[in-house]
Amino acid sequence: GLTGNKGWSPHWRNPDPKTEYDIVIIGGGGHGLATAFYLAKEHGLTNVAVLEKGYLGGGNVGRNTTIVRANYYLPGNSEFYSHSMKLWEGLEQELNYNVMHSQRGIINLFHSDGQRDAAVRRGNAMRNQGDDAHLLGRDELRKMLPYLDFDTARFPIYGGLYHPRGGTARHDAVAWGYARGADERGVDLIQNCEVTGIDISNGQVTGVQTTRGAIRAKKVAMVAAGRSSQVAEMAGMRLPIESHILQAYVTEGLKPFIDHVVTFGMSHFYISQSDKGGLVFGGDLDFYASYAARGNLPGKEQVMEAAMTLMPAIGKARVLRSWGGIMDMSPDGSPIIDHTHIGGLYLNTGWCYGGFKAVPASGFALAHLIATDRPHASAEKLRLDRFETGYGLLDEEGTGAQHN
Ligand code: FAD
Repeated sequence: GLTGNKGWSPHWRNPDPKTEYDIVIIGGGGHGLATAFYLAKEHGLTNVAVLEKGYLGGGNVGRNTTIVRANYYLPGNSEFYSHSMKLWEGLEQELNYNVMHSQRGIINLFHSDGQRDAAVRRGNAMRNQGDDAHLLGRDELRKMLPYLDFDTARFPIYGGLYHPRGGTARHDAVAWGYARGADERGVDLIQNCEVTGIDISNGQVTGVQTTRGAIRAKKVAMVAAGRSSQVAEMAGMRLPIESHILQAYVTEGLKPFIDHVVTFGMSHFYISQSDKGGLVFGGDLDFYASYAARGNLPGKEQVMEAAMTLMPAIGKARVLRSWGGIMDMSPDGSPIIDHTHIGGLYLNTGWCYGGFKAVPASGFALAHLIATDRPHASAEKLRLDRFETGYGLLDEEGTGAQHN
């Protein structure tokens, strides 16, 4: 920049871990940092450490395609993501940080009468929740999205469900904003500190073992996204979570031509254009469980084929890079924010493809749960025991899978 990048002060301190905290959060991704921020801000709890094995924001919070939306269908998810959207809308003021939240609108395309019916149902549910949804016909869409193939496509475009308040945000900035806000309030953010064990005595958590020594704690929250199963195993828990890779792609910078986020209804493909001009897009999981944060060629081929089917012009763009992140896939496609059977041990996981948009509400709800030992009203149904009892499953995998 104009300053020659000199004289900039770090955004947060780099403290050594203390031997004891009231609350330890395992994982310095979006959810862990937001939890720490709201613990301090909403509940005045600042004797808190976030332990991150790498660097803050190096996980999925810095690897996603940045889509923010509140277009879920089922009660349980609907109120939770609606709450998150409201927090997003005040986030830049709250953090005093530019997270580049851009409500450019999301359009979910549909390609059959059956998909139109499903879109109408979901749109009505969104409106009942107090969020916005409009059904667009083919002619309106053609004016808004002239770059799509309306004439010869294998799956003709029938219309779209338009969610104007949806959009994108700059992912790293969200992590950095929450980190600075938590640090300013006294939370210790400790990087290069991997949790290697969870100490439990008489059914109560007492602390953690880390690569930087043992740390005692009255309460511990496991917020490790794709690594959730490994972390929970340290407490002897087997989670209903599978870890899979999700890949994404960005092209060279192009002049602005995609004004919204657009999702394809007949295959796994979605796209938006970053403020730098790169086309940011992705598709579905690589369908094998893995902890490697990189994908393989068949996954790429599927996404590129879907892209060419929907918008042939994309064939002229050059892909600059692709990457992968490890997704914490739950059986019903919905998350878990709950306490565990071990006293003082909390769990936040199951974000599947869609946990970036959830960051504010997830941090808010987990902070509430840790501070009060009662679930926040917006997250009451995100219980762990639904996978044991079968009661209260939130089978919304379609929404997560298709629309990020
Ligand atoms: P992370 O950032 O992964 O944080 C977890 C942290 O825990 C990591 O930093 C990790 O290093 C740390 N950790 C793990 N084990 C330990 C340990 N033992 N000790 C200490 N620390 C540990 N969501 C959307 O809403 N919209 C999208 O458009 C979207 N697109 C996506 C595209 C891709 C390619 C990917 C990969 C994800 C996408 N997601 C999207 C999902 C979203 O990014 C995730 O659901 C969300 O970021 C997960 O929560 P997190 O930010 O806390 O995870």
